[in-house]
Amino acid sequence: MYEPAWRFPTNAAEAAEILRDAGGDARAIAGGTDLTVLLRTGAARPGVIVDLGALDDLRGIELDGTPAAPGRMGIGALVTHGGLAAHPLVVEHAPILAEACRTVGSPQIRARGTIGGNVAHASPAADGSVALLALDAAALTTTAGSASDRDVLPLEGFFTGPGETVLRPHELIRGIAFDCPPPGARSVYLKAGQRNALAIAIVSVAVIHEPDGGLVRIALGSVAPTPIRAREAEDLFLSEWDAATDRPALIDGVAKRTAACASPIDDVRASARYRTMLVEAMARDALRRVCLERSDSSKRSDSNR
Ligand SMILES: Cc1cc2nc3c(=O)[nH]c(=O)nc-3n(C[C@H](O)[C@H](O)[C@H](O)COP(=O)(O)OP(=O)(O)OC[C@H]3O[C@@H](n4cnc5c(N)ncnc54)[C@H](O)[C@@H]3O)c2cc1C
Repeated sequence: MYEPAWRFPTNAAEAAEILRDAGGDARAIAGGTDLTVLLRTGAARPGVIVDLGALDDLRGIELDGTPAAPGRMGIGALVTHGGLAAHPLVVEHAPILAEACRTVGSPQIRARGTIGGNVAHASPAADGSVALLALDAAALTTTAGSASDRDVLPLEGFFTGPGETVLRPHELIRGIAFDCPPPGARSVYLKAGQRNALAIAIVSVAVIHEPDGGLVRIALGSVAPTPIRAREAEDLFLSEWDAATDRPALIDGVAKRTAACASPIDDVRASARYRTMLVEAMARDALRRVCLERSDSSKRSDSNR
């Protein structure tokens, strides 16, 4: 019978040491919403399970700067989706992350599942990760022993395939950090699933736009082996937006380019062809909302489709 050894570290450095000492035969567990599925099915059989539950220093949310000029936001790895969706600093300064976390699973999953686990599990459909990519976020890591030379890992480049990241077995995510979008930025997170509750995304689209600073970011979920940024679509937008006389037509072109950035597959939830059509339609919708509509779409709570 499979009986892993459970360890209960009290700080991140100790957790990383346990991971290192197990020589690759250990897994961290946070909320357990992904890992317990892997343990039950036998897809994961670590000899040691490192319970992060007592690492209270990984539960905070902090913001540099002032409310008028917010700087960098730091989020502990153990903050749950429910905690992010409701936190005033996140709702105010990174509403796209709150929106994305609101669409995760069910109230029970949102109460257990953590942002660190969402990123580390590296699902192409991970809602938190897609919003964090649009925020240009980085994972902050702790490695056993001396200070690491790579303790800030930008999420663009962090995901290497479904369930795969650049994280080494003895590295722990202690938090996530990003520069808050400027106060004038608008954003929207759209998720298409088979139903509203407990739906893994068929396609998700995250868009942030700040007209004065020339900022646009487009991130996609469930249309490639990892969450991705649609860089070519962003480049098209940025090179033509200021001079465009027909902005709706430009948005149509950017939405087409966004779909061209996707490389979806057929799976149980949708065909590749349907996903390609959907990502174009959703990108157009998202871009229109944040770039053309006057109402503050960043505060929408009805984005789960
Ligand atoms: C019914 C159901 C519905 C779901 N719906 C959604 C959904 O709509 N959207 C969505 O995005 N996800 C969904 N999920 C997936 C899951 O809830 C999230 O990915 C969640 O954020 C995972 O966090 P966790 O704390 O539970 O991770 P865990 O299960 O504890 O860990 C997941 C993986 O991350 C590693 N890990 C955890 N924390 C760290 C850390 N700090 N450092 C390094 N590695 C770490 C673990 O070793 C493990 O490999 C759903 C899951 C279920 C069961």
